[in-house]
Amino acid sequence: MQLPTGPCIGVDLGGTKIAVARVEPDGTLSRRCRIDTRVTDGPKVIIQRMCKEIQKVMGTERVAGIGVAAPGPLNARTGVILSPPNLPGWVDIPLREELEKAFGLPVWIENDANAAAWGEYMRGAGSGADPMLYMTISTGIGGGVVLNGRLFRGADTYAGEIGHTTVDPSGPVCGCGRKGCLEVMASGTALARAAREAAERGNSLLSEWAEQKGTLLTAEHVFSALDKGDEAAAAIVERTVEYLAIGISNVVHLFNPRRVVLGGGVTRSGEWLFNPLRERLGKWLMSSFSGTFDLRQAELGDDAGVLGAASLWAEKRDTFETTS
Ligand SMILES: [Zn+2]
Repeated sequence: MQLPTGPCIGVDLGGTKIAVARVEPDGTLSRRCRIDTRVTDGPKVIIQRMCKEIQKVMGTERVAGIGVAAPGPLNARTGVILSPPNLPGWVDIPLREELEKAFGLPVWIENDANAAAWGEYMRGAGSGADPMLYMTISTGIGGGVVLNGRLFRGADTYAGEIGHTTVDPSGPVCGCGRKGCLEVMASGTALARAAREAAERGNSLLSEWAEQKGTLLTAEHVFSALDKGDEAAAAIVERTVEYLAIGISNVVHLFNPRRVVLGGGVTRSGEWLFNPLRERLGKWLMSSFSGTFDLRQAELGDDAGVLGAASLWAEKRDTFETTS
């Protein structure tokens, strides 16, 4: 198929919001819009909502295609969403086919963390680094690897699930049904859970805040308590950093990346994370890996997924057909 060139539409369905923008071939984003996903509404209503936003952003001008970053697991080759823990009710949804039918345009569906990895590699903190490992820490933990100038997808397009590598076999059950995944030990959701457990034990600012009516403790509370010198919060953060160091060092040992980029909501107040993590990585990495990569904060924020999905759409023949 001869692919048209020109602006396309990038969509990120990965978070609690649906983000849509028009993406020019040079990577410029315009006409951004963001609406609540409202995940409990189920696939049919959410897809309708997404189509309405796409139409709004597209207007009457011609675009070449649509790239969508969606929560995994999904099959990028077929564009079918399999059964993401973060999108309840979505089981084997042929999103690519439905969008192609709705708009009459070629559509590309990519795992949201892979799309963000590609966005950061193309125009953000990962530029010029190869191999590059990207990891997003927000409500969940996702990852992507760029290798030899391409997104590394693996045999079935499922590669890069760093959040579901095991870091503690006796840990709690993860959204994927297995135990002690990095995601269940060190995500924003894990920080919030640890905060609530600490609050129950008492003797912490977290317990004081939890007693205030209507307060549901989140990762943000942990960082606020840490700033005020709270010991329970410091212990939670130390443990989180330890698990992140284990998870990252496992992937570093496999891919020997030149750069590791960390993004996602939990990394935005990066103070607590980067220096302690560098120190902890020293403990978990084989000595030969010392100084082989730099650790950087992502630069594109919420645009990474939209930009990455659109860029992957534009390059899909090049980046995809070689791995199939
Ligand atoms: Zn898991």
